[in-house]
Amino acid sequence: MATLSRPSSRCLRAIAAALLAPFLMASALPRAALAQPVGLPDLGDSASTELSPRLERRLGEAIMTDSEHDPDYIGDPAIRQYLTNLGGRLVAGAPPGAPDIRVFAVRDSEINAFSMPGGFIGVNAGLVVAAENESELAGVLAHEIGHVVQRHIARGLVQQKQNSLIMVAALLAAVVAARGNSQAPEAAMAFGQAAAIDSQLGFSRDAEREADRTGFDMLNAAGFNVNGMAAFFGRLMQLTSVNEGTGNVFTRTHPLSIERMSDMQNRARSVPQHSYTDSPDFYFVRAKLRVLQSGGNAQETLDAIRYLESRARDTTNGVERAADLYGVATGWMMRRDYAKASQAYMEATSGARDHFMLARLAVDLALAQGDTAHALELARAAYARWPQQLTLAYAVGESLQRAGRDREAVDFLREQIGRWSEESGFRQMLANSYEKLGNDVASRRNMADYYAMTGALPAAVEQLQQARRISKDFYEQSQIDAQVRDLQRKQKEEQDLLKRFQS
Ligand SMILES: [Zn+2]
Repeated sequence: MATLSRPSSRCLRAIAAALLAPFLMASALPRAALAQPVGLPDLGDSASTELSPRLERRLGEAIMTDSEHDPDYIGDPAIRQYLTNLGGRLVAGAPPGAPDIRVFAVRDSEINAFSMPGGFIGVNAGLVVAAENESELAGVLAHEIGHVVQRHIARGLVQQKQNSLIMVAALLAAVVAARGNSQAPEAAMAFGQAAAIDSQLGFSRDAEREADRTGFDMLNAAGFNVNGMAAFFGRLMQLTSVNEGTGNVFTRTHPLSIERMSDMQNRARSVPQHSYTDSPDFYFVRAKLRVLQSGGNAQETLDAIRYLESRARDTTNGVERAADLYGVATGWMMRRDYAKASQAYMEATSGARDHFMLARLAVDLALAQGDTAHALELARAAYARWPQQLTLAYAVGESLQRAGRDREAVDFLREQIGRWSEESGFRQMLANSYEKLGNDVASRRNMADYYAMTGALPAAVEQLQQARRISKDFYEQSQIDAQVRDLQRKQKEEQDLLKRFQS
Protein backbone atom coordinates (compact mmCIF):
# COMPACT_ATOMS: atom_id res chain seq x y z
CA MET A 1 0.00 0.00 0.00
CA ALA A 2 1.46 3.32 -1.05
CA THR A 3 2.08 5.64 1.85
CA LEU A 4 1.29 9.16 0.83
CA SER A 5 1.58 11.37 3.83
CA ARG A 6 1.81 15.06 3.37
CA PRO A 7 2.90 16.74 6.60
CA SER A 8 -0.38 18.42 7.38
CA SER A 9 -2.44 15.29 6.95
CA ARG A 10 -0.03 13.45 9.17
CA CYS A 11 -0.78 16.20 11.59
CA LEU A 12 -4.49 15.46 11.69
CA ARG A 13 -3.70 11.80 12.16
CA ALA A 14 -1.11 12.49 14.80
CA ILE A 15 -3.69 14.41 16.77
CA ALA A 16 -6.00 11.46 16.62
CA ALA A 17 -3.24 9.01 17.37
CA ALA A 18 -2.15 11.00 20.37
CA LEU A 19 -5.64 10.91 21.75
CA LEU A 20 -6.03 7.25 21.13
CA ALA A 21 -2.65 6.48 22.60
CA PRO A 22 -2.04 8.55 25.70
CA PHE A 23 0.74 6.32 26.98
CA LEU A 24 3.69 7.71 25.07
CA MET A 25 2.57 11.26 25.51
CA ALA A 26 2.44 11.05 29.27
CA SER A 27 5.86 9.47 29.49
CA ALA A 28 7.29 12.25 27.36
CA LEU A 29 6.20 14.89 29.85
CA PRO A 30 8.55 16.12 32.58
CA ARG A 31 8.44 14.29 35.88
CA ALA A 32 7.42 17.40 37.77
CA ALA A 33 4.30 17.64 35.67
CA LEU A 34 3.40 14.08 36.48
CA ALA A 35 3.72 14.66 40.21
CA GLN A 36 1.44 17.68 40.16
CA PRO A 37 -2.27 17.04 40.57
CA VAL A 38 -4.32 18.63 37.84
CA GLY A 39 -7.87 19.81 38.41
CA LEU A 40 -10.44 20.66 35.79
CA PRO A 41 -13.09 22.56 37.75
CA ASP A 42 -14.29 24.61 34.79
CA LEU A 43 -14.92 21.66 32.59
CA GLY A 44 -15.73 18.59 34.50
CA ASP A 45 -15.58 16.67 37.66
CA SER A 46 -12.40 17.71 39.41
CA ALA A 47 -12.69 15.02 42.03
CA SER A 48 -12.65 12.24 39.50
CA THR A 49 -10.03 11.35 36.96
CA GLU A 50 -12.72 10.50 34.44
CA LEU A 51 -12.82 12.45 31.23
CA SER A 52 -16.40 13.69 31.44
CA PRO A 53 -18.56 13.67 28.30
CA ARG A 54 -18.66 17.44 28.49
CA LEU A 55 -14.89 17.80 28.60
CA GLU A 56 -14.60 15.18 25.88
CA ARG A 57 -16.94 17.17 23.64
CA ARG A 58 -15.17 20.42 24.35
CA LEU A 59 -11.79 18.88 23.63
CA GLY A 60 -13.15 17.46 20.38
CA GLU A 61 -14.57 20.84 19.37
CA ALA A 62 -11.28 22.54 20.10
CA ILE A 63 -9.40 20.06 17.93
CA MET A 64 -12.00 20.32 15.15
CA THR A 65 -11.70 24.09 15.11
CA ASP A 66 -8.04 23.77 14.25
CA SER A 67 -8.49 20.80 11.98
CA GLU A 68 -10.93 22.70 9.78
CA HIS A 69 -8.11 25.04 8.82
CA ASP A 70 -5.89 22.13 7.87
CA PRO A 71 -5.42 22.15 4.08
CA ASP A 72 -6.24 18.44 4.03
CA TYR A 73 -9.62 18.91 5.66
CA ILE A 74 -12.24 18.47 2.93
CA GLY A 75 -14.85 21.18 3.44
CA ASP A 76 -17.07 20.22 0.50
CA PRO A 77 -20.63 20.56 1.88
CA ALA A 78 -22.04 17.61 -0.12
CA ILE A 79 -19.37 15.25 1.21
CA ARG A 80 -19.62 16.47 4.80
CA GLN A 81 -23.37 16.19 4.75
CA TYR A 82 -23.37 12.71 3.20
CA LEU A 83 -20.85 11.28 5.68
CA THR A 84 -22.50 12.87 8.70
CA ASN A 85 -25.93 11.60 7.61
CA LEU A 86 -24.47 8.12 7.16
CA GLY A 87 -23.06 8.35 10.70
CA GLY A 88 -26.44 9.59 11.94
CA ARG A 89 -28.27 6.62 10.41
CA LEU A 90 -25.89 4.25 12.17
CA VAL A 91 -25.90 5.96 15.55
CA ALA A 92 -29.71 5.92 15.52
CA GLY A 93 -29.36 2.20 16.29
CA ALA A 94 -26.88 2.75 19.13
CA PRO A 95 -27.69 2.40 22.82
CA PRO A 96 -29.20 5.58 24.34
CA GLY A 97 -26.82 8.36 25.39
CA ALA A 98 -24.62 8.23 22.30
CA PRO A 99 -23.24 11.63 21.31
CA ASP A 100 -24.02 13.39 18.05
CA ILE A 101 -21.70 12.14 15.38
CA ARG A 102 -19.96 14.44 12.94
CA VAL A 103 -18.05 12.81 10.13
CA PHE A 104 -15.62 14.62 7.85
CA ALA A 105 -13.27 13.59 5.05
CA VAL A 106 -9.52 14.08 4.92
CA ARG A 107 -7.51 14.50 1.72
CA ASP A 108 -5.34 11.44 2.12
CA SER A 109 -5.16 8.37 -0.09
CA GLU A 110 -4.12 6.07 2.73
CA ILE A 111 -6.90 3.80 3.98
CA ASN A 112 -7.72 5.08 7.44
CA ALA A 113 -10.42 6.42 9.72
CA PHE A 114 -10.07 7.80 13.23
CA SER A 115 -12.31 8.91 16.04
CA MET A 116 -11.61 11.98 18.10
CA PRO A 117 -13.11 12.87 21.48
CA GLY A 118 -16.72 14.04 21.50
CA GLY A 119 -18.06 12.13 18.48
CA PHE A 120 -15.95 13.60 15.69
CA ILE A 121 -14.82 11.03 13.15
CA GLY A 122 -12.34 11.58 10.35
CA VAL A 123 -12.43 9.37 7.26
CA ASN A 124 -9.60 9.43 4.73
CA ALA A 125 -10.60 9.84 1.08
CA GLY A 126 -8.62 6.65 0.43
CA LEU A 127 -10.95 4.64 2.63
CA VAL A 128 -14.10 5.79 0.82
CA VAL A 129 -12.43 5.14 -2.54
CA ALA A 130 -11.49 1.61 -1.43
CA ALA A 131 -15.06 0.72 -0.40
CA GLU A 132 -16.74 -1.44 -3.03
CA ASN A 133 -20.23 -0.63 -1.82
CA GLU A 134 -22.01 1.54 0.73
CA SER A 135 -22.39 -1.25 3.28
CA GLU A 136 -18.60 -1.62 3.40
CA LEU A 137 -18.18 2.08 4.10
CA ALA A 138 -20.98 1.92 6.67
CA GLY A 139 -19.28 -1.12 8.24
CA VAL A 140 -16.00 0.71 8.93
CA LEU A 141 -17.87 3.79 10.07
CA ALA A 142 -20.00 1.66 12.40
CA HIS A 143 -16.85 0.18 13.93
CA GLU A 144 -15.45 3.69 14.48
CA ILE A 145 -18.75 4.84 15.99
CA GLY A 146 -18.57 1.73 18.18
CA HIS A 147 -15.40 3.15 19.75
CA VAL A 148 -17.21 6.47 20.29
CA VAL A 149 -20.35 4.93 21.78
CA GLN A 150 -18.31 2.72 24.12
CA ARG A 151 -16.31 5.81 25.09
CA HIS A 152 -13.02 4.05 24.47
CA ILE A 153 -11.09 7.30 24.23
CA ALA A 154 -12.30 8.52 27.60
CA ARG A 155 -11.93 5.09 29.18
CA GLY A 156 -8.47 4.67 27.71
CA LEU A 157 -7.53 7.95 29.28
CA VAL A 158 -9.07 7.00 32.60
CA GLN A 159 -7.03 3.81 32.75
CA GLN A 160 -3.97 5.97 32.72
CA LYS A 161 -5.48 8.02 35.56
CA GLN A 162 -3.53 11.13 36.33
CA ASN A 163 -1.08 10.79 33.47
CA SER A 164 -3.92 10.92 31.04
CA LEU A 165 -5.27 14.13 32.46
CA ILE A 166 -1.88 15.66 31.95
CA MET A 167 -2.00 14.40 28.38
CA VAL A 168 -5.37 16.06 27.89
CA ALA A 169 -3.93 19.15 29.49
CA ALA A 170 -1.02 19.20 27.07
CA LEU A 171 -3.34 18.83 24.11
CA LEU A 172 -5.71 21.50 25.29
CA ALA A 173 -2.83 23.81 26.09
CA ALA A 174 -1.49 23.36 22.58
CA VAL A 175 -4.90 24.18 21.14
CA VAL A 176 -5.41 27.26 23.30
CA ALA A 177 -1.88 28.54 22.76
CA ALA A 178 -2.24 28.10 19.04
CA ARG A 179 -5.61 29.83 19.10
CA GLY A 180 -4.08 32.91 20.69
CA ASN A 181 -1.87 33.36 17.65
CA SER A 182 -5.03 33.33 15.52
CA GLN A 183 -2.97 31.86 12.69
CA ALA A 184 -4.86 28.66 12.40
CA PRO A 185 -2.80 26.72 9.85
CA GLU A 186 0.33 27.21 11.92
CA ALA A 187 -1.68 26.37 14.96
CA ALA A 188 -2.53 22.99 13.55
CA MET A 189 1.13 22.38 12.79
CA ALA A 190 2.26 23.29 16.28
CA PHE A 191 -0.40 21.02 17.62
CA GLY A 192 0.75 18.19 15.41
CA GLN A 193 4.28 18.57 16.65
CA ALA A 194 3.13 18.57 20.25
CA ALA A 195 1.54 15.25 19.53
CA ALA A 196 4.24 13.95 17.28
CA ILE A 197 3.57 10.30 17.65
CA ASP A 198 2.21 8.32 14.81
CA SER A 199 -0.27 5.56 15.08
CA GLN A 200 2.01 2.92 16.51
CA LEU A 201 -0.34 2.18 19.32
CA GLY A 202 -3.98 1.49 18.97
CA PHE A 203 -6.96 0.22 20.84
CA SER A 204 -6.75 -2.92 22.94
CA ARG A 205 -8.07 -6.27 21.69
CA ASP A 206 -11.02 -5.96 24.08
CA ALA A 207 -11.86 -2.50 22.77
CA GLU A 208 -11.69 -3.79 19.19
CA ARG A 209 -14.06 -6.65 19.97
CA GLU A 210 -16.45 -4.25 21.70
CA ALA A 211 -16.38 -1.81 18.77
CA ASP A 212 -17.00 -4.69 16.34
CA ARG A 213 -19.98 -5.90 18.32
CA THR A 214 -21.55 -2.46 18.85
CA GLY A 215 -20.79 -1.50 15.25
CA PHE A 216 -22.33 -4.68 13.92
CA ASP A 217 -25.60 -4.07 15.81
CA MET A 218 -25.78 -0.52 14.41
CA LEU A 219 -25.06 -1.74 10.88
CA ASN A 220 -27.81 -4.34 11.20
CA ALA A 221 -30.34 -1.95 12.78
CA ALA A 222 -29.76 0.61 10.01
CA GLY A 223 -30.60 -2.03 7.39
CA PHE A 224 -27.22 -2.30 5.68
CA ASN A 225 -25.80 -5.53 4.32
CA VAL A 226 -24.26 -7.01 7.48
CA ASN A 227 -21.48 -8.68 5.48
CA GLY A 228 -20.11 -5.22 4.71
CA MET A 229 -17.95 -5.05 7.81
CA ALA A 230 -16.28 -8.45 7.41
CA ALA A 231 -15.83 -7.96 3.66
CA PHE A 232 -14.01 -4.67 4.03
CA PHE A 233 -11.87 -5.76 6.96
CA GLY A 234 -11.08 -8.99 5.13
CA ARG A 235 -9.71 -7.05 2.16
CA LEU A 236 -7.70 -4.81 4.45
CA MET A 237 -6.20 -7.84 6.14
CA GLN A 238 -5.19 -9.28 2.77
CA LEU A 239 -3.63 -5.98 1.73
CA THR A 240 -1.71 -5.85 4.97
CA SER A 241 -0.35 -9.37 4.67
CA VAL A 242 0.67 -8.74 1.03
CA ASN A 243 2.52 -5.59 2.04
CA GLU A 244 4.08 -7.11 5.09
CA GLY A 245 6.05 -4.66 7.16
CA THR A 246 4.31 -1.59 5.81
CA GLY A 247 0.69 -2.49 6.35
CA ASN A 248 -1.70 0.40 6.60
CA VAL A 249 -2.57 2.75 9.37
CA PHE A 250 -6.03 1.41 9.93
CA THR A 251 -4.90 -2.15 10.61
CA ARG A 252 -2.18 -0.85 12.89
CA THR A 253 -4.54 1.21 15.04
CA HIS A 254 -7.30 -1.38 14.92
CA PRO A 255 -5.37 -4.67 15.00
CA LEU A 256 -7.12 -7.26 12.87
CA SER A 257 -6.95 -10.93 13.68
CA ILE A 258 -8.30 -14.19 12.31
CA GLU A 259 -10.35 -14.38 15.48
CA ARG A 260 -11.95 -10.97 14.90
CA MET A 261 -12.71 -11.87 11.30
CA SER A 262 -14.43 -15.13 12.20
CA ASP A 263 -16.41 -13.35 14.94
CA MET A 264 -17.67 -10.88 12.35
CA GLN A 265 -18.55 -13.63 9.89
CA ASN A 266 -20.37 -15.65 12.57
CA ARG A 267 -22.33 -12.60 13.64
CA ALA A 268 -23.31 -11.92 10.02
CA ARG A 269 -24.53 -15.51 9.66
CA SER A 270 -26.60 -15.26 12.84
CA VAL A 271 -29.00 -12.56 11.56
CA PRO A 272 -31.36 -12.43 8.57
CA GLN A 273 -29.62 -10.92 5.55
CA HIS A 274 -30.82 -7.55 4.27
CA SER A 275 -30.58 -6.86 0.61
CA TYR A 276 -29.38 -3.30 0.60
CA THR A 277 -29.36 -1.08 -2.47
CA ASP A 278 -26.55 1.48 -2.43
CA SER A 279 -27.69 5.10 -2.49
CA PRO A 280 -26.67 7.05 -5.62
CA ASP A 281 -25.05 9.56 -3.22
CA PHE A 282 -22.46 6.94 -2.24
CA TYR A 283 -21.25 6.58 -5.83
CA PHE A 284 -21.14 10.33 -6.44
CA VAL A 285 -19.28 11.05 -3.20
CA ARG A 286 -16.84 8.20 -3.88
CA ALA A 287 -16.12 9.45 -7.42
CA LYS A 288 -15.53 12.99 -6.18
CA LEU A 289 -13.20 11.81 -3.42
CA ARG A 290 -11.17 9.80 -5.93
CA VAL A 291 -10.46 13.07 -7.72
CA LEU A 292 -10.08 15.20 -4.57
CA GLN A 293 -7.60 12.85 -2.91
CA SER A 294 -5.06 13.88 -5.55
CA GLY A 295 -4.90 17.23 -3.78
CA GLY A 296 -4.56 19.14 -7.05
CA ASN A 297 -1.45 17.26 -8.23
CA ALA A 298 -1.86 17.50 -12.02
CA GLN A 299 -0.66 13.98 -12.85
CA GLU A 300 -2.63 12.32 -10.06
CA THR A 301 -5.78 14.19 -11.11
CA LEU A 302 -5.25 13.00 -14.67
CA ASP A 303 -4.75 9.43 -13.45
CA ALA A 304 -8.02 9.63 -11.50
CA ILE A 305 -9.81 10.97 -14.60
CA ARG A 306 -8.47 8.11 -16.76
CA TYR A 307 -9.42 5.54 -14.14
CA LEU A 308 -12.99 6.86 -13.84
CA GLU A 309 -13.35 7.10 -17.63
CA SER A 310 -12.42 3.47 -18.08
CA ARG A 311 -14.71 2.37 -15.26
CA ALA A 312 -17.60 4.37 -16.76
CA ARG A 313 -17.02 2.52 -20.07
CA ASP A 314 -17.05 -0.88 -18.37
CA THR A 315 -19.98 -0.61 -15.97
CA THR A 316 -23.50 -1.65 -16.81
CA ASN A 317 -24.97 0.16 -13.81
CA GLY A 318 -26.45 3.49 -14.97
CA VAL A 319 -26.04 5.27 -11.63
CA GLU A 320 -22.42 4.18 -11.24
CA ARG A 321 -21.68 5.27 -14.80
CA ALA A 322 -23.21 8.72 -14.19
CA ALA A 323 -21.26 9.04 -10.94
CA ASP A 324 -17.96 8.07 -12.57
CA LEU A 325 -18.55 10.57 -15.38
CA TYR A 326 -19.39 13.16 -12.73
CA GLY A 327 -15.98 12.42 -11.21
CA VAL A 328 -14.40 12.86 -14.65
CA ALA A 329 -16.09 16.25 -15.05
CA THR A 330 -14.96 17.28 -11.55
CA GLY A 331 -11.40 16.33 -12.47
CA TRP A 332 -11.48 18.44 -15.64
CA MET A 333 -12.92 21.33 -13.60
CA MET A 334 -9.93 21.05 -11.26
CA ARG A 335 -7.67 21.22 -14.30
CA ARG A 336 -9.69 24.21 -15.60
CA ASP A 337 -10.52 22.42 -18.81
CA TYR A 338 -14.15 23.53 -19.01
CA ALA A 339 -14.79 22.15 -22.49
CA LYS A 340 -13.89 18.62 -21.38
CA ALA A 341 -15.74 19.12 -18.10
CA SER A 342 -18.90 20.15 -20.01
CA GLN A 343 -18.57 17.16 -22.28
CA ALA A 344 -18.30 14.73 -19.34
CA TYR A 345 -21.23 16.48 -17.66
CA MET A 346 -23.35 16.02 -20.82
CA GLU A 347 -22.48 12.33 -20.91
CA ALA A 348 -23.25 11.93 -17.20
CA THR A 349 -26.71 13.46 -17.65
CA SER A 350 -27.57 11.62 -20.85
CA GLY A 351 -30.86 9.76 -20.69
CA ALA A 352 -32.29 12.45 -18.40
CA ARG A 353 -30.24 11.15 -15.47
CA ASP A 354 -29.88 13.63 -12.63
CA HIS A 355 -28.53 13.98 -9.12
CA PHE A 356 -28.09 16.99 -6.87
CA MET A 357 -24.31 16.78 -7.17
CA LEU A 358 -24.63 16.96 -10.96
CA ALA A 359 -26.87 20.01 -10.53
CA ARG A 360 -24.22 21.62 -8.34
CA LEU A 361 -21.58 20.84 -10.96
CA ALA A 362 -23.69 22.58 -13.62
CA VAL A 363 -23.79 25.70 -11.43
CA ASP A 364 -20.02 25.60 -10.93
CA LEU A 365 -19.45 25.17 -14.66
CA ALA A 366 -21.63 28.20 -15.44
CA LEU A 367 -19.83 30.24 -12.76
CA ALA A 368 -16.40 29.18 -14.01
CA GLN A 369 -17.37 30.34 -17.49
CA GLY A 370 -18.68 33.66 -16.19
CA ASP A 371 -22.36 33.03 -16.94
CA THR A 372 -23.67 34.15 -13.54
CA ALA A 373 -27.28 34.65 -14.66
CA HIS A 374 -27.50 31.09 -15.89
CA ALA A 375 -25.70 29.81 -12.77
CA LEU A 376 -28.25 31.54 -10.54
CA GLU A 377 -31.15 30.15 -12.52
CA LEU A 378 -29.73 26.61 -12.28
CA ALA A 379 -28.92 26.97 -8.57
CA ARG A 380 -32.40 28.21 -7.67
CA ALA A 381 -34.11 25.45 -9.61
CA ALA A 382 -31.87 22.82 -8.04
CA TYR A 383 -32.35 24.07 -4.47
CA ALA A 384 -36.12 24.16 -4.98
CA ARG A 385 -35.97 20.57 -6.16
CA TRP A 386 -33.53 19.28 -3.48
CA PRO A 387 -34.18 21.58 -0.49
CA GLN A 388 -32.36 19.28 1.94
CA GLN A 389 -29.02 19.65 0.18
CA LEU A 390 -26.65 22.06 1.89
CA THR A 391 -24.38 22.30 -1.14
CA LEU A 392 -27.26 23.77 -3.17
CA ALA A 393 -27.92 26.43 -0.54
CA TYR A 394 -24.29 27.44 -0.96
CA ALA A 395 -24.71 27.34 -4.75
CA VAL A 396 -27.56 29.88 -4.63
CA GLY A 397 -25.68 32.18 -2.24
CA GLU A 398 -22.50 32.05 -4.31
CA SER A 399 -24.39 32.69 -7.56
CA LEU A 400 -26.20 35.71 -6.09
CA GLN A 401 -22.92 37.17 -4.93
CA ARG A 402 -21.13 36.50 -8.18
CA ALA A 403 -24.02 38.21 -10.01
CA GLY A 404 -23.54 41.24 -7.75
CA ARG A 405 -27.04 40.85 -6.31
CA ASP A 406 -25.97 41.43 -2.72
CA ARG A 407 -29.27 42.78 -1.44
CA GLU A 408 -30.97 39.52 -2.41
CA ALA A 409 -27.96 37.60 -1.12
CA VAL A 410 -28.39 39.18 2.34
CA ASP A 411 -32.03 38.05 2.55
CA PHE A 412 -31.20 34.61 1.26
CA LEU A 413 -28.18 34.09 3.54
CA ARG A 414 -30.04 35.24 6.64
CA GLU A 415 -32.69 32.68 5.88
CA GLN A 416 -30.04 29.97 5.49
CA ILE A 417 -28.43 30.91 8.81
CA GLY A 418 -31.82 30.30 10.42
CA ARG A 419 -32.00 26.91 8.75
CA TRP A 420 -28.41 25.67 9.08
CA SER A 421 -27.34 27.33 12.31
CA GLU A 422 -24.02 25.46 12.57
CA GLU A 423 -22.75 26.50 9.15
CA SER A 424 -20.16 29.21 9.74
CA GLY A 425 -19.66 29.64 5.98
CA PHE A 426 -22.98 31.47 5.55
CA ARG A 427 -21.93 34.09 8.14
CA GLN A 428 -18.73 34.82 6.26
CA MET A 429 -20.67 35.18 3.00
CA LEU A 430 -23.21 37.45 4.69
CA ALA A 431 -20.39 39.66 6.02
CA ASN A 432 -19.08 40.00 2.45
CA SER A 433 -22.45 41.03 1.05
CA TYR A 434 -23.00 43.60 3.81
CA GLU A 435 -19.58 45.02 3.07
CA LYS A 436 -20.43 45.39 -0.63
CA LEU A 437 -23.64 47.20 0.37
CA GLY A 438 -21.69 49.57 2.60
CA ASN A 439 -23.19 48.32 5.86
CA ASP A 440 -19.92 48.13 7.78
CA VAL A 441 -21.43 47.48 11.20
CA ALA A 442 -23.44 44.47 10.03
CA SER A 443 -20.46 43.24 8.03
CA ARG A 444 -18.15 43.29 11.03
CA ARG A 445 -20.72 41.77 13.36
CA ASN A 446 -21.25 38.86 11.00
CA MET A 447 -17.54 38.43 10.54
CA ALA A 448 -17.27 38.33 14.33
CA ASP A 449 -19.89 35.56 14.40
CA TYR A 450 -17.90 33.65 11.82
CA TYR A 451 -14.66 33.97 13.81
CA ALA A 452 -16.37 33.05 17.06
CA MET A 453 -17.89 29.95 15.48
CA THR A 454 -14.52 28.84 14.16
CA GLY A 455 -12.85 29.42 17.51
CA ALA A 456 -10.82 32.53 16.62
CA LEU A 457 -11.97 34.51 19.66
CA PRO A 458 -9.44 37.39 19.57
CA ALA A 459 -10.29 38.09 15.91
CA ALA A 460 -14.01 38.03 16.79
CA VAL A 461 -13.53 40.58 19.58
CA GLU A 462 -11.54 42.82 17.25
CA GLN A 463 -14.32 42.81 14.65
CA LEU A 464 -16.91 43.67 17.31
CA GLN A 465 -14.81 46.50 18.68
CA GLN A 466 -14.54 47.98 15.20
CA ALA A 467 -18.31 47.64 14.74
CA ARG A 468 -18.83 49.35 18.10
CA ARG A 469 -16.76 52.36 16.99
CA ILE A 470 -18.66 52.74 13.71
CA SER A 471 -22.14 52.24 15.14
CA LYS A 472 -24.30 55.32 15.81
CA ASP A 473 -27.16 53.40 17.40
CA PHE A 474 -27.26 53.24 21.20
CA TYR A 475 -29.13 49.92 21.36
CA GLU A 476 -26.83 48.35 18.83
CA GLN A 477 -23.84 49.55 20.82
CA SER A 478 -25.06 47.98 24.03
CA GLN A 479 -25.83 44.73 22.19
CA ILE A 480 -22.28 44.68 20.89
CA ASP A 481 -20.90 45.44 24.36
CA ALA A 482 -22.72 42.41 25.72
CA GLN A 483 -21.31 40.24 22.93
CA VAL A 484 -17.79 41.47 23.60
CA ARG A 485 -18.11 40.72 27.31
CA ASP A 486 -19.35 37.25 26.52
CA LEU A 487 -16.46 36.50 24.18
CA GLN A 488 -13.91 37.96 26.58
CA ARG A 489 -15.24 35.72 29.31
CA LYS A 490 -14.80 32.67 27.06
CA GLN A 491 -11.34 33.82 26.14
CA LYS A 492 -10.40 34.19 29.78
CA GLU A 493 -11.72 30.72 30.55
CA GLU A 494 -9.44 29.28 27.92
CA GLN A 495 -6.46 31.29 29.14
CA ASP A 496 -7.08 30.16 32.71
CA LEU A 497 -7.14 26.58 31.55
CA LEU A 498 -3.88 27.11 29.75
CA LYS A 499 -2.24 28.61 32.85
CA ARG A 500 -3.42 25.76 35.01
CA PHE A 501 -2.02 23.21 32.58
CA GLN A 502 1.27 24.99 32.10
CA SER A 503 2.17 24.92 35.78
ZN1 LIG B 1 -11.05 -0.20 16.13
